[in-house]
Amino acid sequence: MSNDNEHDEEEQSFLQYVTSHLSMHWSDEQRDTYLQDVLLNWRKHREHSREEARLMEKYLNTIKDNFRSQSPELYDFNQWPIDEKLLAILKQDSLDSDTVKQIRTTGVYTFPLLPTAFCQRLVNELAYFEQWCVDNGLKLYRPNSMNKYGVILDHFGFEKCLTDLMTNIVQPLTQLFYKHITLPLDSHHGFAVEYAMNKDRKLDFHVDDSAVTLNVCLGEEFTDGELYFGGVRCSSHVSTSAPKKEEEFFFEHQIGTACLHLGNHRHRALPITSGRRLNLILWCRSSSFDNEKDNDDHDECPAWCGIHLKEAENN
Ligand SMILES: [Zn+2]
Repeated sequence: MSNDNEHDEEEQSFLQYVTSHLSMHWSDEQRDTYLQDVLLNWRKHREHSREEARLMEKYLNTIKDNFRSQSPELYDFNQWPIDEKLLAILKQDSLDSDTVKQIRTTGVYTFPLLPTAFCQRLVNELAYFEQWCVDNGLKLYRPNSMNKYGVILDHFGFEKCLTDLMTNIVQPLTQLFYKHITLPLDSHHGFAVEYAMNKDRKLDFHVDDSAVTLNVCLGEEFTDGELYFGGVRCSSHVSTSAPKKEEEFFFEHQIGTACLHLGNHRHRALPITSGRRLNLILWCRSSSFDNEKDNDDHDECPAWCGIHLKEAENN
């Protein structure tokens, strides 16, 4: 928590910023009234953010101090039975493979990752944690703004394990398949989503807050609920351009099989029509890649954007 001096510094720099953007034509009185109003709102917003951070800290500490996992070995990546063929390919460092398959030339890859039985054990552990939260009157933080069901794995002990999954599996594949992403992948958001008939059944068209996303189906039994993909887009084209016909395809989930795609590859989860589907999702980020994106001219469309390719073809 910051002390009063820091308060003042933060406030001063905010005020300086706002003042430098005010209209030259305003009277002193107009400026004062405006600044007071803006400052009041800013303080309210800051207090709200701090309160949220305090609540989050308390939540995480409660879990850390009290939750005891049912199967501690699941939290250790070294004990994850990663598919042997996949491991062999990663050692070879080569694109040439029947194990890691690209779906047409879409830049979406699929490969076997984990055995079904292990996925079921993960599903059981997730259920155990959710039940523990219910029993202890703890309100769960849900994965993201769109998924109302599921859990954030990083919150109850999986953070190190998922960092290892990112470093050992996602990163070498990113290096092979997505050359424009600057490595290393150095942070992640790891969560499980749940789709069921009486819960969320689908997820609308969106991009992920990640450089690369790993999506692994964990179970259990379900019909339909495919992923639909509709083109890779840069930030200027993400919501303004329809998918081209050749960009559209569906990915059918299979338990234990992973799907790897760019965060900017637009997708939606189609509704399941029976049962319950759980997926582990790992949003992998690179701070160097994010910095480059921030420094680039925002209107400039990069080569990896589906619209950029279209424009190049037309020229
Ligand atoms: Zn673009």
